[in-house]
Amino acid sequence: MKKSIECPFQKVFPSQLEKGDLFFMQLAYNEAVNAWTRDEVPVGAVIAMGEEVVASAFNETRTQSDPSAHAEMIAITMAAKSVGDWRLNDCRLYVTKEPCPMCAGATVMSRLGEVHFAVDDPKMGALGGATSLHELPFSNHKPKVFRQTMELECREMLQAFFKLQRKST
Ligand SMILES: [Zn+2]
Repeated sequence: MKKSIECPFQKVFPSQLEKGDLFFMQLAYNEAVNAWTRDEVPVGAVIAMGEEVVASAFNETRTQSDPSAHAEMIAITMAAKSVGDWRLNDCRLYVTKEPCPMCAGATVMSRLGEVHFAVDDPKMGALGGATSLHELPFSNHKPKVFRQTMELECREMLQAFFKLQRKST
């Protein structure tokens, strides 16, 4: 069994005064910390509708032994249940890393209005990194994509996680 590594990153305490993009990305960052403390790759996701959080999740691939248990997938299912509609046009997804093809596909299928991600992923990112599923020419839903909120913090956490993992094997 692999030894687990304690998360060296602290949760942040976002100010409730201004519920802008930074506020929701900070909540996603905290979910990434939750993922790390469970030995998961630290990716967190939050879905907001107006100023309200309708879903909040972290990567659970290992915990659930499920390759589809990415933070975004869990959050999208949760948001649809919470809103009572599979169409999430009025919602915004905040995620600490650029969605992979599966999750980016789910943002299109769920008609998410906006996707905000922190760290881009030139290898597997599907919202501009490796490919652009939000810009399929014949798709009738194109989520608006925003990047780089809290990029440094989220990148630092991911890099530290993989570095420590490599050391522990
Ligand atoms: Zn994914």
